[in-house]
Amino acid sequence: MNPSCAPLDAFYEAILFINHDGFIRACNQRALTLFHASTERPLVGRNLTTLFAHPQQGLDLLSQLTTSLTTQEAFTLVEARLARDDGRSLMVEIAIRQYTEDQFTVSMRDITQRHQALRDLEDANERLRATDRDRIAFVSNVSHELRSPLTSMSYALTNMQRGICGQLPEKALAYIERLQTDVKRLLLTVNDILDMRQIETGTLNLHKTTASLKKHLLETIESLQLQAEAKQQALHVSTCEGDAFAMVDTYKIERIFSNIIANAIKYTPAKGTISITLQSVAPMARIIVDDTGIGIPPEALPRVTQPYYRVGDHVAGTGLGLSIVKELITLHDGTLHIESPVPGTTIGTRVTLEIPLSERPLWVLLSGDDAFINEMTPLIQRLGCIAIPDQEALHIHQRYISVSPARFIIDGALPEYAIEDILYQIHGSPRLTKTPILILVPNDCDSLHHYAYAHMNVVLRPYPTTLDVLRQL
Ligand code: ADP
Repeated sequence: MNPSCAPLDAFYEAILFINHDGFIRACNQRALTLFHASTERPLVGRNLTTLFAHPQQGLDLLSQLTTSLTTQEAFTLVEARLARDDGRSLMVEIAIRQYTEDQFTVSMRDITQRHQALRDLEDANERLRATDRDRIAFVSNVSHELRSPLTSMSYALTNMQRGICGQLPEKALAYIERLQTDVKRLLLTVNDILDMRQIETGTLNLHKTTASLKKHLLETIESLQLQAEAKQQALHVSTCEGDAFAMVDTYKIERIFSNIIANAIKYTPAKGTISITLQSVAPMARIIVDDTGIGIPPEALPRVTQPYYRVGDHVAGTGLGLSIVKELITLHDGTLHIESPVPGTTIGTRVTLEIPLSERPLWVLLSGDDAFINEMTPLIQRLGCIAIPDQEALHIHQRYISVSPARFIIDGALPEYAIEDILYQIHGSPRLTKTPILILVPNDCDSLHHYAYAHMNVVLRPYPTTLDVLRQL
């Protein structure tokens, strides 16, 4: 019969005493029960390694034992599957401790049930994740399918607004404007879903250039003006003197602004007020959006930037906007801060964005004509930008790619083949493909308009130009 260690029989754990070769010298009653040991097959005298379902694991454990002997660690803790004498197997948690110079105590706790429950939970989790992945993939496939037609609708509408169909009656233009607003709103949702997918899969790429935050903020406000007007809301805008430039992905920065401002409009009742402020407080640019809306309950504030989280469902939405804003602003080394009510008041919400300010942007002037360059350079400087003139306009030099210009200005008096070649080179360079391009067209020339129709980032303006025209770009 296995000699049992009477005082240790009261323990829930199986306790064994082994020597450094792994031979069992004594054990408690629980060990006998756990291993189904009997008089015919006593535990004492057997080697610990023979108890393991995978003998190699037993050997590994013994080698850990030797290590613990040399390093004098307090104990070694492992999980292992053991084989019972009746053919069943057990998952146990094993702790080994040195007892005397040549003896170790091995205590084993049966964790079979816990282990099984954990595996069931992991399986269930994996099934849930798979369903979730399928659902997200489905939603983003649908969004992807929607994005192309929506983009071409918006593109066609922009071209109509720019006059591709000639002068349209005012009523038609008003309809086009409304259509454009709806298409843009749909595109925002579709892009939110696609951005979220890219964030989740770690495939979101930014194309950063030095850009004017003032320009992109004002443009975003303008594109949302109709939505605010429809609710008779007042939009108060206050911007810093001069400009505030930052290294940003211009598409994403407008997405950030429009998400925040669209939220302010959406969650503010009719006749409310939305105040948008741009400050330049070196080294950061700060954008503050205050509204007089329904506010966010204090318990929801820490959660509103989590994906899919929404407070109530009285207003339509996806719950993605703020989480995407948070990810995007972080990718711009900036911060997002939400307060409700607006400090110093009892209502509304304040959203504060901070983005690091950057050096003044570089505009590349491509022309073979000194007079053109001499006229444009001071205008560009007055906008706070730096002009790099290039008379050898035919080559988009490698250095332009490394300095990431904020804009190219092309002299429209250059031969058409030269302009085509410049555009080809800009669009062929991955870092420049989205850089805005302005072609200044001589007043009597309208043969270049197809460039603007063919590329979203190309605009045409008449030359000579004015500071106001450049400021609006
Ligand atoms: P969505 O607006 O599509 O629901 P968001 O991620 O943009 O998703 O916002 C998450 C939640 O935060 C919203 O459902 C809303 O409850 C709350 N929220 C966001 N902005 C405001 C705001 N300006 N005023 C009140 N609540 C807001």
